[in-house]
Amino acid sequence: MIRFIVYWIKTNVKEARIKVDTMGNIFVTKGNAETYPCVVAHIDEVHSKKPKDFKVIETSEILFGWSSGAKDFIGIGADDKSGVWLSLVSLKKYDNIKVALFVSEEVGCIGSSKCDLSFFTDCRYILQCDRRGSDDFITHIGGTELCSKEFIAATGFENYGYHQEMGMMTDVLTLKERGLEVSCCNISCGYYEPHTSREFTVKSDLLNCLHFVEHIIDTCNEVYPHKYQYTWNTGFYDDLYDFYYDDVYTLLTNHPDLTFEEICGAFKDYYPQANLQELEMTYEMAKQDIEYWKSKDYEN
Ligand SMILES: [Zn+2]
Repeated sequence: MIRFIVYWIKTNVKEARIKVDTMGNIFVTKGNAETYPCVVAHIDEVHSKKPKDFKVIETSEILFGWSSGAKDFIGIGADDKSGVWLSLVSLKKYDNIKVALFVSEEVGCIGSSKCDLSFFTDCRYILQCDRRGSDDFITHIGGTELCSKEFIAATGFENYGYHQEMGMMTDVLTLKERGLEVSCCNISCGYYEPHTSREFTVKSDLLNCLHFVEHIIDTCNEVYPHKYQYTWNTGFYDDLYDFYYDDVYTLLTNHPDLTFEEICGAFKDYYPQANLQELEMTYEMAKQDIEYWKSKDYEN
C-alpha cells in the first residue's frame, strides 16, 4: 500500500515532495507557501486477509467487496481508503497543500503517536476524513475539543448537510494530545459498516465529502489556532462508564467466556479516553451482576 501510494504520487503529482518515515507514515508537501491546508487519512485497514478472488463491485450507487469462491461479502477497507482517495485527489488539485497518511491507526494510532510533529507547524488546519456515514462533522472526541469556534463557523459545514458530532479515537486526537496547536476535525466520508465484511461506500456521500473538503480549502485561507486542553468532564465520564457497563453486560450475556482484554479489543474505538482500571472494575461489576441474576433465575 505504501509503495503503491508513493508510486501514484510520483506519477501523478510530479512536483510533490514525499517523505516516508521509518514507521511508513507518508508526508507530502506540494508548492511553496507560508501556510498550507492539510488533509490526513490512515493507510492501514482491519481486513488484512482477503481471498485471492476478492473483487470490488461498483454499481451506479455503491462499492462493496465480493468473493465468488466464498459466495460472501468481503470488507473493502473503505475505512480509510475513502480518506486516502480524498487526500490524493486534493493533492492533485491544489497548488499548495500538505498531506499526511498514517500507518497503524486501527491498532491504536501508532503512526500518528510517534511521527515528527514539525511537519504540521505551517498548517492552517488539519482535515481528517475517517468517519463512517454521511453527515458527521467531528469537532470533539471523548470530550476533548479538536478545533476553535472560528474554524467551525468558517467551514460552512451546514451547507453540505453535516452536523457537529462527537467522535471516536483517530489520528487527529492523537496529534492534539501531543500538542498540535491548530484546529482539526474528522469528517464522514461515505463508508458504512466499517470493520465488517459488509462494509460499503456510497459514492454520492464520498463525493459530497470531497466537495466539502474542497470548499474548506478554497475558503479557509487563515491559520486557525487551537490549543488542546485536557477536559475532565465528570458528567461525560459517568455516562461513558454507564454506556460501557451496558455494552459489556450485553456482550457477556451472549459470550460469557470473553476476557477483559478481548472486550477491550472489541470496544477500543468507542472508549478512547477511558481509564483502564475503571473499565476493568466496570467489567467485573457487569460479570458479577450477570452471575447474580443467573442465580436468581435458578432459585425461582
Ligand atoms: Zn478509520
